[in-house]
Amino acid sequence: MTENELTFKAKSTIKSADLEHRQKINFNIGKYNSGVPKAKQQFEDNNLVKERAKNIKWRALETLDQNLEEFEMHFTKRGGKVIWAQNSQEALDEILTICKEKHCKSIVKSKSMVTEEIHLNHFLEKNGIESIVTDLGEYIQQLDGEPPYHIVTPAMHKSKEDVARLFSEKLGTPSKLSPEELTLVAREKLREKYIQAEIGITGANFVIADVGGIALTENEGNARLSSAWPKTHIAIVGIEKMIPSVTDLALLWPLLATYGTGQKVTVYSSIITGPRQPGEADGPEEMYVIFLDNNRTDILANARQRESLYCIRCGACLNVCPVYKNIGGHSYGTTYSGPIGSVITPNLQGLEEYKHLSYASSLCGACTEVCPVKINLHELLLVNRNASVEEGMTSFSEKMAWKVWKLVSLKRGLMNMGNGNLISKVVNKLFKNWDEYHAPLEFSKKTFNEMWKEHRELK
Ligand code: SF4
Repeated sequence: MTENELTFKAKSTIKSADLEHRQKINFNIGKYNSGVPKAKQQFEDNNLVKERAKNIKWRALETLDQNLEEFEMHFTKRGGKVIWAQNSQEALDEILTICKEKHCKSIVKSKSMVTEEIHLNHFLEKNGIESIVTDLGEYIQQLDGEPPYHIVTPAMHKSKEDVARLFSEKLGTPSKLSPEELTLVAREKLREKYIQAEIGITGANFVIADVGGIALTENEGNARLSSAWPKTHIAIVGIEKMIPSVTDLALLWPLLATYGTGQKVTVYSSIITGPRQPGEADGPEEMYVIFLDNNRTDILANARQRESLYCIRCGACLNVCPVYKNIGGHSYGTTYSGPIGSVITPNLQGLEEYKHLSYASSLCGACTEVCPVKINLHELLLVNRNASVEEGMTSFSEKMAWKVWKLVSLKRGLMNMGNGNLISKVVNKLFKNWDEYHAPLEFSKKTFNEMWKEHRELK
């Protein structure tokens, strides 16, 4: 068992018994659950909308090379600069080079999972650059020294009382402030940071090939401020965020809002196609887009796993997952948690180290059912499991258990040997740790042959 797997099991065991945690999560997901059905009413045929969204992402990924080139052509024509980063280190080095050129001491950063993936804040801090996260949920997490708990709602596991206590401890505010008052405190602190920052960093919800722009959607306006106020804007995105056309946003923006937050459309939606142009009133003097690969091209090359790149990071699969709701986002120990995290992390960061996540699922299929781009998440978990078996990553005891199982299942005489109690005992012990995490398997007291015989005699 790897260190990561041991940590995952230990953290999950503790968290799943934490009733206060469960109550907070259920409360916050409950609010989400009440919004989504209303927002969905904007679509006449939900299934059709999801099919279309999947087709858009399919088209974008099947022609990704052309789309990336098309983006670069349009974006650079307007003065933007494109950087290609094969891995986290390359992306970090490029960002540091820009920071040094600009004599940057302070950065404002809007919400971006890719920056979490490359551990940007930690890197900047080590290099003496202050990086303040401007999304309220992430700001709360940064104050608390914790990574985001959820890909859309970073502080989902905290109650308003927890946040008031945190602000009081870290910022010296009165300990019982209301959510509105807390927001005003954060707003005031952050406004100063926008003015000081030399560089603004954002992610992108979508990258649009035919206009050479990035699409940002948010509820707080902080991504707009982070991208437009500082003199330099860096957007860092995974290559899979591509969509072919700006017209695709007519479907993808409301879809993301509906499944992400239960809104018809998010409050602020921006398309940024480069730095400030002559005659324009605002915007940065320079703009960079850094495309991050970080093993995404390996997923692209894998015909069975490719569709996991269609993800639009709405977080809906996390909200319906019975495993996520019990063990929480931090137990995964990864940037991307929940079903989509369990599918992509083993492929982004190594199957050997993260294959255990693919087993942390009841395979109920709720994630697949809810996904707005129809990713067959529960099947992809099986694909990961299959890959780990094919690559010989199963333990000796598991291999032996299945060998014995196969041998016995193919021989009626062996199946009829022993009684139910004995078989239950042997099988529960054979599958190591089975009864530590599951109810023990209980085999029928009589064999199938015995029951069949009795049935025939009764007739
Ligand atoms: S896999 Fe689907 S449901 Fe999960 S975050 Fe991505 S788009 Fe949303």
